[in-house]
Amino acid sequence: MSVALAILVSAVAMTVIVGVRYLVTSGGFALATRARHPGLYTGLDPQIRREIAWSLASAAIYGVPAGVVAWGWRTHGWTRIYDDVHAFPLWYLPVSVLLFLLAHDTWFYWTHRWMHRPGPFRIAHAVHHASRPPTAWAAMAFHPIEALTGAVAIPLLVFVIPIHVGALGLVLAIMTVMGVTNHMGWEVFPRFMWRGIVGRWLITASHHQRHHERYGCNYGLYFRFWDRLCGTDDGIGDFARAHANARRRGGIAGADAGRDADRRGAGR
Ligand SMILES: [Zn+2]
Ligand SMILES: [Zn+2]
Repeated sequence: MSVALAILVSAVAMTVIVGVRYLVTSGGFALATRARHPGLYTGLDPQIRREIAWSLASAAIYGVPAGVVAWGWRTHGWTRIYDDVHAFPLWYLPVSVLLFLLAHDTWFYWTHRWMHRPGPFRIAHAVHHASRPPTAWAAMAFHPIEALTGAVAIPLLVFVIPIHVGALGLVLAIMTVMGVTNHMGWEVFPRFMWRGIVGRWLITASHHQRHHERYGCNYGLYFRFWDRLCGTDDGIGDFARAHANARRRGGIAGADAGRDADRRGAGR
């Protein structure tokens, strides 16, 4: 197989993996939502269709750099991914996971803040904020420009931070699950994770909900560290009010209200 074809096959395979991973994870949590909170997504069908379409487009954008790097790793030993678990001390396994999460969180915080400047917001990030309130399907509902900023983070980090292939799998699993649950509209995690001392430093759905309510705060992904340090942490959100507002707006009227909110939200 020619090199170009091999890279293409790897990129397509990765796109399919990311797309299926999204459908399975978001679909699973959407079913859990229907079981635990029946009617929570009532009236949001047009929004959910948009969330799925944008997310599947994002899957291709995530899949291409991941596929190229995966090909380079397998065929040329690119990256610092290792598969011999004893290549580094065992204590390094959890440390490497934490390093990846901290680095990814830092990248996300600052690119996300930049995306809230009026220009980038209008051109790109408004797509993500068109979800009001977001659902389990909104995890990858990004404009292609925003998807690109997210897609390069992990493929670049694997060149810098050594990580076991299994630990990398865990990082990707955490990224996927948190992306879905943060938008789901209710807390699936135990109370200590989003209240109390632990909750003061971890981001779960309640925290990201407030970002979708108020825009100019709570930019982080996994940890509240950057938000606290930079004074952009605004506590946790109110699921009941967000869903009551969505029901009141309903359907097409919701989309109009959304565009108004976009204009208000940009740059805050
Ligand atoms: Zn969001
Ligand atoms: Zn945002």
